[in-house]
Amino acid sequence: MEPIDDWQWQMANRITDVAALRKYVEISEEQALEIDAAGKKFRWAITPYYASLMDRSDVNCPIRKQAIPSILELQCSRGVQDPLQEETQSPAPGLIHRYPDRVAFTVSSECAMYCRHCTRKRFVGQPVQRTNWSAIKAGIEYIRKTEVIRDVLITGGDPFILSDDRLERILKELRAIDHVEIIRFGTRTPCTMPQRITAKLCEMLAKYHPVWVNTHFNHPRELTEEADQAVDRLLRAGIPVGNQSVLLRGINDSIDTMKKLLHGLLKMRVRPYYLYQCDPVIGTEHFWTPLEAGLDLIDQLQGYTTGLAVPQFIVDSPIGKIPLTRPRLLGLTQDHAVLRNYEGKTITISYPLQIELQEMVAPACP
Ligand SMILES: *Cc1c(COP(=O)(O)O)cnc(C)c1O
Ligand code: SF4
Repeated sequence: MEPIDDWQWQMANRITDVAALRKYVEISEEQALEIDAAGKKFRWAITPYYASLMDRSDVNCPIRKQAIPSILELQCSRGVQDPLQEETQSPAPGLIHRYPDRVAFTVSSECAMYCRHCTRKRFVGQPVQRTNWSAIKAGIEYIRKTEVIRDVLITGGDPFILSDDRLERILKELRAIDHVEIIRFGTRTPCTMPQRITAKLCEMLAKYHPVWVNTHFNHPRELTEEADQAVDRLLRAGIPVGNQSVLLRGINDSIDTMKKLLHGLLKMRVRPYYLYQCDPVIGTEHFWTPLEAGLDLIDQLQGYTTGLAVPQFIVDSPIGKIPLTRPRLLGLTQDHAVLRNYEGKTITISYPLQIELQEMVAPACP
């Protein structure tokens, strides 16, 4: 195995300064100062793999924009630290219990690459005690004694930054709890460090089925041969893989880019799950799009391509994720509904009429 194929090598050789970054992209002197300034406020680190996807000379490269600190992070006037109020809905360290039957469990504050648009910028990459075993244990205890929790989403930071042994310890504990039916992981490693998805990791995860993985691809350029193989290893281990993208201005907010991403994901057998409105986090304002942009994208996808390719457009909030679409149900009375199709045509469905239609077609069938 080449060292470049080894995730530990990728982690150990992450790019964290301009001098190292210049191996991959051209950086002006002015930009170098800006990267240093923004990088001081919000941590940055990029795997050599992810940096290798960057365009050397294009400052608008979508890979660069997601990974390299920008002075715009410091110039934002709006945004808050914790827009989802996760810290106040936490009954145990790193545990967020917002929905009736499931929890999000942040077991790591580290990631392979620090996305500039991250919702959890407030702690991701900061030295907080999320991976400390006694903190994780307290979260597991809460899950054990809270019988309504049937679904545990292990997230972070990125949980796959933990060693196989540490992950297995968590999985073993969770599997020993009768009411935990499914275990899910949220990880960006298939995109930012696909080397992490080793055969050994997949073999271990498969011992704790049902296990699901949701990952985070934002741009078709991230759908590489390496990413494809990492996803394939997960799928062969029986782990369904879904994708959660963030809608980012200048990165994936055009219908062409979005379609390429969604169709590319289907080719990799990854099911698009959510497309998030970028959360109003401090330092991310330059990525925000108006709500109309997400609604327009959904309108340009639904019906024009398979429903398998169409994610739910989500606005996340302290009271939960809220899926948005423009109205399809234009009128509803006791005996009829007015519905709009993807082309804007409307149809009135009246329920007794529907029954008559069925009676009319019935004799034609043998
Ligand atoms: C997103 C999230 C979940 C999981 O939500 P699904 O819609 O089931 O994928 C669970 N808990 C919290 C706090 C979340 O933010
Ligand atoms: S991988 Fe996820 S948690 Fe980590 S920086 Fe990116 S968006 Fe944030």
